[in-house]
Amino acid sequence: MKNVALLGVTGSIGQSALDVVAQYPERYRVWAIAAGSNVEKLARLASVWRPYVVAIADQSRYNALVKELKHLGINDIRVMAGPEAMCEIAAMDQVDIVVQAIVGAAGVKPSFAAARAGKRLLLANKESVVCGGELLMRTVREHGAELLPVDSEHNAIFQCLEGTRKEERALVKAWLTCSGGPFHARTEVDLESVTPQMALAHPTWSMGRKISIDSATLMNKGLEVIEAHHLFNLDADHIGVVVHPQSVIHSMVEFSDGSLLAELASPDMKLPIVYCMAYPQRLDGGVKRLKVTELQNLTFTAPDMERFPQLAYAYEAVREGGISAIVLNAANEIAVEAFLQERIGFKDIARVCRAMMDEIKGELPDTEDGIMAVDAMVRERATAWIEAMPQR
Ligand code: NAD
Ligand code: MG
Repeated sequence: MKNVALLGVTGSIGQSALDVVAQYPERYRVWAIAAGSNVEKLARLASVWRPYVVAIADQSRYNALVKELKHLGINDIRVMAGPEAMCEIAAMDQVDIVVQAIVGAAGVKPSFAAARAGKRLLLANKESVVCGGELLMRTVREHGAELLPVDSEHNAIFQCLEGTRKEERALVKAWLTCSGGPFHARTEVDLESVTPQMALAHPTWSMGRKISIDSATLMNKGLEVIEAHHLFNLDADHIGVVVHPQSVIHSMVEFSDGSLLAELASPDMKLPIVYCMAYPQRLDGGVKRLKVTELQNLTFTAPDMERFPQLAYAYEAVREGGISAIVLNAANEIAVEAFLQERIGFKDIARVCRAMMDEIKGELPDTEDGIMAVDAMVRERATAWIEAMPQR
């Protein structure tokens, strides 16, 4: 029996992970669950799953959580609160598997905590690889942790690389597939006038709000380019992006002889989650089977980096190194939030990122605290930059 801690349990990935655990009660037990601020949903999940620990990152919601649990008749669960609680849970002795499904850079420290505690880390929170970069990868190695990528593209690449020799890997080009989001094919749409509602309507995946906007701007693919750079130790020239709106091929790897290996499956995050949970075994996670004979219209085109410049900024960040990926990520998080609150327009998201990347440069810090300090500084500068923008 493996004990699982689910961070970000109230979100889209959190739900998919619970769906997987529900299918294998004899293998996996929900030990701890945690969320950002959604007390009602967290308490409801606690009453269903009866974990040993429940935690809310927003300290000010502690009393509300205790009250809600009491209301549901639950008084035998340890209740924790505050951002440090996420790290404590990720490192608890009883925990074997950490599902890291927090959104944004708030996930950086919990990922480091899980790595330092030598856990199996199922990483959906791509922002922690983007910001933690080489330092996170080194921490994983030094503490014997296992970082398994839940992001479907990286999971596909991981699967394609299984069984290939190390010497071959240097020659690999990783092709990340990209749905293109709701606007890639719709060149008639004036991106200046896109509303949050339009941008949140993703064609193939159902996801949280932040990643849905990132998919519409192609920032999500940009973050994934940076993620692939660190996870698979590839430079920018060895990472390609191809728009594949059907989201059937989750990614591909190309070898020096011209062979391409691909992973195909229904677009359902339960698949990479169950793959990482049971690795190196394969379990059926209840994902709808592809009908091979129905795979008739798989298309592939190059991404439009002029219309969606944030993808180009991510390549730039990989080439430039230093703090540029942390800057891009933090600027994007602030800008996406402002867009969702209708304080800035869709194309302004890229403008904020560009401005911050031009303004803020520096050497990469060699500690987590240093990384988080850069993140906080960029957030402040991006917020001020947005406030100084002419009113819409
Ligand atoms: P979501 O918005 O649905 O859920 C986010 C979760 O994080 C919620 O449980 C929320 O309570 C929690 N959270 C928010 N702020 C927090 C904080 N400060 N501290 C602790 N917890 C906090 O998002 P999602 O779609 O499930 O995505 C989660 C992560 O997985 C993101 O990094 C995303 O990029 C990545 N991811 C998601 C998908 C997908 O299909 N949804 C696919 C690949 C990768
Ligand atoms: Mg992905």
